[in-house]
Amino acid sequence: VFEDVKAAPADVIFALTTICDADTFDKKINLGVGAYRTEEGKPYVLPVVKKADHILVDDKNLDHEYLPILGQKAFRKESAKLILGASSKALAEDRVGAIQCISGTGALYAGAHFLSKHYPIKGAACYISTPTYANHRPLLEGVGLPVLEYPYWNPATKGLDLEGMLNAMQSAANGSIFLLHACAHNPTGVDPTPDQWRQIADVMEAKSHFTFFDCAYQGFASGNLDKDAYAVRYFVERGLELFVAQSYSKNFGLYSERAGNLTVVAKTPEIKDRIESQIAKAQRAVISNPPAYGSRIVSTVLTDKKLYSEWEQNLSTMANRIIHMRKVLFDELTRLETPGKWSHIVDQIGMFSFTGLTTPQVKVLKEKYHIYLLDNGRISVAGLNSKNVMYFAQAVDDVVRN
Ligand code: PMP
Repeated sequence: VFEDVKAAPADVIFALTTICDADTFDKKINLGVGAYRTEEGKPYVLPVVKKADHILVDDKNLDHEYLPILGQKAFRKESAKLILGASSKALAEDRVGAIQCISGTGALYAGAHFLSKHYPIKGAACYISTPTYANHRPLLEGVGLPVLEYPYWNPATKGLDLEGMLNAMQSAANGSIFLLHACAHNPTGVDPTPDQWRQIADVMEAKSHFTFFDCAYQGFASGNLDKDAYAVRYFVERGLELFVAQSYSKNFGLYSERAGNLTVVAKTPEIKDRIESQIAKAQRAVISNPPAYGSRIVSTVLTDKKLYSEWEQNLSTMANRIIHMRKVLFDELTRLETPGKWSHIVDQIGMFSFTGLTTPQVKVLKEKYHIYLLDNGRISVAGLNSKNVMYFAQAVDDVVRN
């Protein structure tokens, strides 16, 4: 029956990990996958997650019944509160919906699928940044949304191309959909400043564009959960309706548990209920019910003041180690007098750095040095530690010079 099926290409990031895992060279480094690593290069189970694990194991009332289609109530409520802030006017007005999804990807999917069916402007395009997270385009195209791009990265300044971004928003058809990274932009590590967010919101509002925030790194950009929610809260304060896809993969280290949430800020409580009902109907047909475990860990922490502050400490441990690694790398490239300007390494934020290394340079890093990173030059700074950062800097120095 399936003689004519062609093989699909492997996912670039996961394929990189497979190749790196099979590499027996002792100094190999995996800077591809966006997962936090400790100073020893190991996965990190957050201490607060371990505590929540124990609480759940000891809870005699827990069972393995289905969760409701929209997910666990406390998880949904706390997720919306986490991103919008406890004092959010939209929450007080009861016009915020929340749907537990299969992590950030599932939340993006649920939101995009809803937009593909119910967005009032038929054929409206969804704009994504150039560059963006590799899964955005296939996900959006997968639900049938036309995908266009807006400039984001300025290679000359190794910073934000604000002018290009605003121009694209201005010239897009009224009522287009814009997928914006809430914080710690993947892959560039470059976020707009508050004043730039104001300019972006001005155009979004004037052109009646719809905002879909992707928030996969709350707490990872600055180490502060409220600060990282700035853009979303600012847009909501301005009265904009929007969606936010939230992921707990990175900030809770719950990668495999697939805990995520779609927060929906609607115009009225009644519209919010209708949107939730449509997403529930669609979710029933695709996953039926979301998984419980990750959401229980998250809600256990978010509903307990003491655990919440421990989580904040765990987050700063991760964020600070990454910031420190940026500095060590920058200092070493400076000491080596590696040609070029490297200040963007310390200026960029979050887990990733868009190094500016070219595809041919990346090829040499892989083949000669066994250092694995994306062809566009993105590295996961979390993959660096005090044992491998000098080796990496030496290798970068070599490929840049030759
Ligand atoms: N959005 C962005 C920008 C991401 O970087 C990621 C994870 N790499 C996701 C969404 C989805 O993550 P997950 O499904 O693991 O929560």
